Amino acid sequence: MKTHVRVAVIGGGVVGCSVLYHLTKLGWHDVVLLERDELTCGSTWHAAGGMHTLNGDPNVAKLQKYTIELYKEIEQVSGLSCGMHLPGGLVLAGTPERMDWLRMAEARGRYLGLDAQIVGMDEAVRRMPLIDKKHFIGAMYDPLEGHLDPSGTTHAYARAATKQGAEVYRKTKVEELHQRADGGWDVVTDQGTIVAEHVVNCGGLWAREVGRMVGVELPVLAMEHHYLITEDIPQHLPTEGELPHCIDFEGEIYLRQERKGVLLGTYERSGVPWSPRTTPWNFSAELLPPDLDRIAHNLEVGFQHFPVLAEAGIRRVINGPFTFAPDGNPLVGPLRGMRNHWVACGVMAGFSQGGGVGLALAGWMVHGDPGFDVFAMDVARFGDWATRAYTNMKVRENYGRRFRVTFPNEELPAARPLRTSPLYDRMGAAGAVFGASFGLEQPLWFAPPGTEAVEQVTFRRSNAHGPVGEECRTVRTAVGLIETSGYAKYEVSGAGAEAFLGRVLANRIPDAGRIALTPMLNDNGKLIGDFTVARLSPDTFYVFGSGPAEQYHMRWWEAHAPAAGVALRSRRSTLMGLSVAGPQARTLMAKVTGEDFSTEAFPFLSFRRMDVGMVPALVGRITFTGDLGYEMWVTPDYHVALYDTLMAAGDEFGIRHFGLRALNSMRLEKSWGTWAREYRPIYGPLEAGLSRFVGYRKADFIGRDAALREREQGGTLRLVTLIVEDADADVVGDEPVSVGGRTVGWVTSGGYAHWTGKSIALAYVPKELAQAGETFGIEILGTPRTASLAVEAPFDPAGTRMRG
Ligand SMILES: Cc1cc2nc3c(=O)[nH]c(=O)nc-3n(C[C@H](O)[C@H](O)[C@H](O)COP(=O)(O)OP(=O)(O)OC[C@H]3O[C@@H](n4cnc5c(N)ncnc54)[C@H](O)[C@@H]3O)c2cc1C
Repeated sequence: MKTHVRVAVIGGGVVGCSVLYHLTKLGWHDVVLLERDELTCGSTWHAAGGMHTLNGDPNVAKLQKYTIELYKEIEQVSGLSCGMHLPGGLVLAGTPERMDWLRMAEARGRYLGLDAQIVGMDEAVRRMPLIDKKHFIGAMYDPLEGHLDPSGTTHAYARAATKQGAEVYRKTKVEELHQRADGGWDVVTDQGTIVAEHVVNCGGLWAREVGRMVGVELPVLAMEHHYLITEDIPQHLPTEGELPHCIDFEGEIYLRQERKGVLLGTYERSGVPWSPRTTPWNFSAELLPPDLDRIAHNLEVGFQHFPVLAEAGIRRVINGPFTFAPDGNPLVGPLRGMRNHWVACGVMAGFSQGGGVGLALAGWMVHGDPGFDVFAMDVARFGDWATRAYTNMKVRENYGRRFRVTFPNEELPAARPLRTSPLYDRMGAAGAVFGASFGLEQPLWFAPPGTEAVEQVTFRRSNAHGPVGEECRTVRTAVGLIETSGYAKYEVSGAGAEAFLGRVLANRIPDAGRIALTPMLNDNGKLIGDFTVARLSPDTFYVFGSGPAEQYHMRWWEAHAPAAGVALRSRRSTLMGLSVAGPQARTLMAKVTGEDFSTEAFPFLSFRRMDVGMVPALVGRITFTGDLGYEMWVTPDYHVALYDTLMAAGDEFGIRHFGLRALNSMRLEKSWGTWAREYRPIYGPLEAGLSRFVGYRKADFIGRDAALREREQGGTLRLVTLIVEDADADVVGDEPVSVGGRTVGWVTSGGYAHWTGKSIALAYVPKELAQAGETFGIEILGTPRTASLAVEAPFDPAGTRMRG
């Protein structure tokens, strides 16, 4: 066994072996894999081996496509077979809502380079004769679907890696991990200690235990999962080739041919966690006792939908555990607060995702960046609020909903409320319909008095449409109040604060009393953040950004902060916010503060401490509504008093609440992008329309050289505002954008802009097409719509309202 290595990968399931292979592929050969027993002995060996590209997140769907296409390469490099079958797959829809969902998935696949297509039930039955078509109304067929041999594939990854220099140590259990002063790790195993520059936790069923070795509780939980294999039914199988895979959303089951029988798996609604606190170390290549009663309902529906199966005997029932993160996507990336400690766990579909996860993580380790947008699976998308109990509730919810439609306006109920601001009860009493983001309950919109504060879930405009329109009109004509506690808030102070912020942020750092908007770039000049920086005094800054990206940003800053001179802390729970916006906002602010709020005395982008009524607050002149507006920040003990003060004083000006839906509507008509939709690490600032916020002439900041290159060469894409032909549904994001039937771009977000009365889509298209007069096609729920390019923001393009 080596004693010093560059990387020690912990865990020889399919994920660990894929990470190992990809590290060697990217040029790191001094890498070892440590497996406490035999390869595949965790959840890998008994997997059904199914693989498909279908995923709610397009970035994860792309990784799934990569994974499936990778197996040929693994076979070639290793000389071993993965036991691949690619008969294609059908996803069946039994309801109009599910059909809408399939149409969205099919359209999305077009810009991802997938070949999925909607087919009628006759075509579906032709491909899969076991279906009783009366239960379904349509289907989607994807040729890139199939299954493989889980054990053979894992060994093939491992062999491919060892052929390229890696070593695999079986029967080697990692028992302790100790960070060394030089940033490396002492990896203490039952076979001796290895010094590794980097460690990767691919512990699968034991990922939590490996996390606990470094004091981290990873939000993963294993669920029991059943599939069964029928007796042979050769008379019902095709004489040539094999049956395609089938996902039956109505029955919440999947099936495929297994030799001369059928393999049928279930995602029952009340799934059962396995070993919720601790995974036993002596569990190895084992199965769990089957519980057919638990899956009886799914089987009953399955037997109706595929009647032949009701007559086929059951040859074998498998019940095995595998792990999930609260939202069902993997947990990948470096752990915040630790050097050279990486995770790749919570991978619930190792054979669809393992290749992509390995590629992303290896790229991140070798090049410092995964090379594409992996936020949907970044371990940093969860915070300390994702406790064990939270994870347990969310994972069970996710498992039970695996084959159910989640609508774009749907807020899932499990584990809520968890984080609430002091205004939660008052907002609830005012009719707030809440959504949870980063664990925090935030008002989305307000149900008018006498109506129920519940939103109907739909792909079309919901019952929120009317009230949200009213909220927008209040802001544009009088004054509205919104709670802003959900932003990420950071305090950066100390003698080195200005230099530090100047290095990590792309724009010029503002003078005391001023606010600046700024993107943050990585070394490749791509967008990794979008912030408002407010300077209270020479050495004290407040930085505001996207709430869900807090850990992601803290991780980056902590990795780039100097050893001394800068104090950096999140004010997530110690700074609460309220904002007022609209033409009457200035008069209201003057009334509650007694201060001069004229543009001369407190111009756009001002920031200072002042009293609002009796409440000491930080006040900035800025708002995301595109109107005249102010943001106020207070400690939680003052939040209620601040709210009461503003509501009482605002009564004479017609003040009303507005929520995040109205805010979204108003930022769309200003053509303003938002983090995680328009601004992501796959776009440069010029492409995203943010170059005016980049201080190209600043001496130095991360990403400067690449940003200058982008400016010189012009980038390849442009973010554009499209006005979409109006109907009963708006874009939700990820729709393909076409010209003359050819897909040329994709929608990042959109919706209805109530004040200007337009259905709006923000989209990326090739820069050559971002020209006045250009028209595009966007398919919404299967219906093509025309979309014309708006050369300027539909609302107040000159910004006179917000600056005036
Ligand atoms: C019944 C069932 C059916 C499934 N069907 C499918 C399917 O059709 N398609 C699909 O894509 N996925 C399927 N899965 C899921 C799939 O099995 C998992 O996604 C995959 O196995 C996860 O692999 P992993 O490498 O992350 O974890 P694991 O396979 O659990 O591997 C972790 C490894 O780490 C080792 N380890 C842990 N701690 C240590 C330590 N301290 N020191 C050394 N070694 C350690 C363990 O021994 C283990 O070998 C199914 C799962 C089940 C249970």
